[in-house]
Amino acid sequence: RASKAYQSHPHLYKLLVICTVSGGGLLGFSDGRTAHADADHRDIKQKKKKVVVLGTGWAGTSFLKNLKDPGYDVQVVSPRNYFAFTPLLPSVTNGTVEARSIVEPIRNIVRKKKFNVQFNEAECYKIDTQNKKVYCRSIQDNNLGVSEEFSLEYDYLVIAMGARVNTFNTPGVVEHAHFLKEIEDAQRIRRTVIDCFERASLPTISEEERKRILHFVIVGGGPTGVEFAAELHDFVIDDLAKLYPTLKDKVKITLLEATDHILNMFDKRITVFAEEKFQRDGIDLKTGSLVTKVSDKEISTKERATGQNVSIPYGMVVWSTGIGTRPVIMDFMKQIGQTNRRVLATDEWLRVEKCDSIYALGDCATINQRKVMEDIAAIFSKADTKNTGRLKVEDFKEVINDVSERYPQVEIYLKKKQLKNFVQLLKNSQGDDELDIEKFKAALSEVDSQTKNLPPTAQVAAQQGAYLADCFNRMEICEKYPEGPLRFRGSGRHRFRPFRYKHLGQFAPLGGEQAAAQLPGDWVSIGHSSQWLWYSVYASKQVSWRTRMLVVSDWGRRFIFGRDSSRI
Ligand code: FAD
Repeated sequence: RASKAYQSHPHLYKLLVICTVSGGGLLGFSDGRTAHADADHRDIKQKKKKVVVLGTGWAGTSFLKNLKDPGYDVQVVSPRNYFAFTPLLPSVTNGTVEARSIVEPIRNIVRKKKFNVQFNEAECYKIDTQNKKVYCRSIQDNNLGVSEEFSLEYDYLVIAMGARVNTFNTPGVVEHAHFLKEIEDAQRIRRTVIDCFERASLPTISEEERKRILHFVIVGGGPTGVEFAAELHDFVIDDLAKLYPTLKDKVKITLLEATDHILNMFDKRITVFAEEKFQRDGIDLKTGSLVTKVSDKEISTKERATGQNVSIPYGMVVWSTGIGTRPVIMDFMKQIGQTNRRVLATDEWLRVEKCDSIYALGDCATINQRKVMEDIAAIFSKADTKNTGRLKVEDFKEVINDVSERYPQVEIYLKKKQLKNFVQLLKNSQGDDELDIEKFKAALSEVDSQTKNLPPTAQVAAQQGAYLADCFNRMEICEKYPEGPLRFRGSGRHRFRPFRYKHLGQFAPLGGEQAAAQLPGDWVSIGHSSQWLWYSVYASKQVSWRTRMLVVSDWGRRFIFGRDSSRI
C-alpha cells in the first residue's frame, strides 16, 4: 500500500513521512523512551516539594547556600535582591567601606545551585496557613511605578524575615531619627553627616546654630550604637577635622543609654574599657538617660538619677535601641494564636509551634524555652517508671545526660550553672540517694526564669539557616526510613538532632584601631591586636570572594587615602 501511495503521489508521501518522523520526534513521540522521560520529568516535578523561603538576610541566605538536595522546588521572596553583611554597616556610615562592597546579589548565590531556585523581588504581606499559601507584592513600584501581586503555594515555608527597628513608640522617632538597620540607612547617615558639616560651614549660620548642627546624638549603648559612635568619632578626627578645620572644636558626640552601662551583654572588663575610652575620646556618655520624645531639633530625656526632664539640641540623631516585630509576623502570630509574644515561638527543630511544615529562624523567631522546660520535666516523670515520685541519683544523672542530648541549648546552662546546684539542692532536701521529682520541677521553673533566649545575632541566624538546610537535605531519607538505624528504633530521635548553637565569640569595635573581643570560655582581649583579629574574622566571614576582595581593598584605600567625604 505504501509503494502504491508513493507511486501515485510521491511528493505528498515524502512530506507525510518527514512530518511524521520529525514532528513525532520533536513532540517526543518518535520513540517511546522520550515520552516516558517526559512523563518521568513531570512526575519528578510534581513530586518535588515546594519550599518557599521568605527573606535573604543571614538566616535565609545561609539556608539557601547550604541546601543541596535537588528534590525541592525553591521559591525565594525578599524585598532585597541581595544579601547584606550587616556587621560592617557602621563602617558604611563613614565610608570606611563602600555599601556595594558588603552586598552580594542573591542571584549570584542561587545560580550556583544544581536545582531550580526562583527569586522574586517582593515582600510577603500575608501567610495563609489554611491553604498553605503566601501572598506577595512586588516592590519595583518605587522606581518603575508598577506593582504586581501574586501568591505562592508551599509544602514547606521557611520564615527568615528578620526584624524591624524598635522605637518603643517614642514620639517623633520615626519622623526625625535615623536608623541603622539596612544599607540605605547607612548611606543616608553618611550623607547627613556631610550635610551637617557643609551646613555648619555656611556664613549665614549663627554660632549657636552651628553647635546644634554639629551635635550628633546616638540613642542606645548596645554594640551597634557603640560601634557607630566610635566610627563617627574616627571619621571626625581622622578626616573631617582636616577638611573643616574651623569646625573641629564645635563637634560633639553624645551617646544616650537608658541603663547604667553600655555594652551590657559583654564582659564587665569590656564595658569598663569602652566607657573609659569614650571618656578619653571626648564622647559624652550619658547613662540612665531615657529618651521620651524626639522633635526636629531637640531630643527630650528623663534622667533617672535626678528625675529631671532635659532637652538636648541636636543636628543628627541615630536610633539604635534594639529590634521589634514586623507587621506581617505580628499578623501571622495572631492567626496561629501566638499573641503577646515579641517573636515567633518555635521548638528546638525550628518548627513554628502549632504549625505544620512552617519553620522560622533568625531575628523573627526564638526557641520557646518554657516548652523546653516542660518537656524536660516530662522526661523526668517518664524516667520514674515505678511512679514513686522519686528518682535515684544515678538515674537522675542519666536523665540529665538524656536531656542535654535532646536539648543542647539548655545543656550548657544546666551543666555550667545549675546541674551541680540541682543535685546539691535536691540532695540536701531529701537525703543522699533519692530525689523528689516535684521538687525538681520547682527547681526547674527557677531555671526557666533564668534561661535566656538566644541573642538576635547574625551568628545565630546563620547557624540556624545551615542547620535547617541540613535537615532538609536529609528529610527524604528520614521519611523513607522512619525507624532509622537500630540504636534509635522507637525513640524517634534519629531524625534530626535539635538545633545546637555554638557561640564563637563577639566583637565590639571601639574606634582608634582598637576593638574588644569576647571569645568562648569568657576569654577577653582588648586593644589593637583585637582589631586585627576583627579584620581577619570579618574578611574571612564574607559571603563571596568578590565581597572579600572589595572589603579588604576598601580597608587598604582608607589606610592610604583616608575616607571620602563627598556627599553623593
Ligand atoms: P535579616 O538579616 O535582617 O534578614 C531579613 C530578610 O528578610 C531581609 O532580606 C529582608 O529584606 C527580608 N524581609 C523583610 N521583610 C520581608 C517581607 N515582608 N517579605 C519577605 N522578606 C522580607 N550580628 C552579629 O552576630 N555580629 C555583628 O557584628 C552584628 N552587627 C550588626 C550591626 C548592625 C548595624 C545591625 C543592624 C545588625 C548587626 N548584627 C550583628 C545583627 C544581625 O545583623 C542580625 O541578627 C541578622 O541580620 C539576623 O538575620 P535574619 O536573617 O534573621 O534577618
